[in-house]
Amino acid sequence: MKLKGKTAIVTGGSRGIGRAVCLRLTQQGANIVVGYAGSAQAAEETAAICQALGVQAIAVQADVSRPKQCAALFDKTISTFGRVDILVNNAGIARDALIIRMSENQFDEVIDTNLKGAFLCMKLAARLMMKQRYGRIISMSSVVGVRGNAGQTNYAASKAGLIGMTKSLARELAGRGVTVNAVAPGLIETDMTAGLPQSARQEMLRAIPLGRTGTPEDVAGAVAFLAGEDASYITGQVLCVDGGMAI
Ligand code: NAP
Repeated sequence: MKLKGKTAIVTGGSRGIGRAVCLRLTQQGANIVVGYAGSAQAAEETAAICQALGVQAIAVQADVSRPKQCAALFDKTISTFGRVDILVNNAGIARDALIIRMSENQFDEVIDTNLKGAFLCMKLAARLMMKQRYGRIISMSSVVGVRGNAGQTNYAASKAGLIGMTKSLARELAGRGVTVNAVAPGLIETDMTAGLPQSARQEMLRAIPLGRTGTPEDVAGAVAFLAGEDASYITGQVLCVDGGMAI
């Protein structure tokens, strides 16, 4: 219960990695705000599971690409819990295509959600955390942001951008007791990767030294570590949770 009394916002907490993060932070005692875009039922279900484990949890609809909805997410968190100790920028989408076939819309949508969404939430969190002189900001990058991947120029740009933003903000907030880190998952079994063609999956598996795909729980453990006191001297880092893919 190392996070008892702390409040965590997890964007994209309705399913996949985000839901696993909500549950893991709950096990450590944190109160949880489950952010989601459209899956109200799944988000309410995540919140209900957290409540059943003994913490306070609410689900809040907020499209992170919309500044007003991000502000409303933070307002609701403050009116309910009074503070934000942990922000997990997890919301993300992929719109894959080779660049010659990628539309401007596909590019913009991914950047707006994965990168600008994180920026908007980081900015709101920074104000509060600087005043509190305490905070943990953790953003979900990707092995693709570290290594690149054919067919994902938009996604890779957003995830590499998150790494640059993480390192810069870590420098800005270090003097105020706020750490800023990123987690870079490899191939994790969620809705996002469920539609991968078998051939692509096999090829990716061959590139994973540990020889298996990851689970949302594998990633959640890394996030919980960075959110906790054991990581209080770690900032500006990218923790790869990828079975060795990025080596
Ligand atoms: P997922 O199962 O597709 O879930 C995506 C989550 O993001 C959902 O909760 C979704 O909410 C939310 N979301 C999407 N667009 C949003 C928006 N505009 N505003 C707010 N929330 C939004 O994906 P996942 O695999 O768990 O991925 C989670 C994060 O990990 C993403 O950032 C992804 O890029 C990253 N990642 C995943 C993998 C992987 O292999 N799965 C690898 C590396 C990095 P709704 O349910 O309401 O739609």
